[in-house]
Amino acid sequence: MKKSVYSICGMCTVRCPIRVESENNEVTWIEGNQHILGGALCAKGSAGPALIADRERPRQPLIREGGRGAGRWQKVS
Ligand code: SF4
Repeated sequence: MKKSVYSICGMCTVRCPIRVESENNEVTWIEGNQHILGGALCAKGSAGPALIADRERPRQPLIREGGRGAGRWQKVS
């Protein structure tokens, strides 16, 4: 089910008013509140859906194993 809700961006201290579209509980689009910002939003705020959906985003603390660039990480609590 598609939904559109108004909210506030929390990506920095400015706290811009935003409109968020979602489908099946997944964010699909973020833009500035058209009534206040005319739909405009900075690149960081607009990239919100990518941040949430990024499969390589660290989801817990990691400690590097091996040398720099080895690409090996150990999960820690
Ligand atoms: S849209 Fe950009 S400027 Fe506005 S709160 Fe989000 S990150 Fe900050």
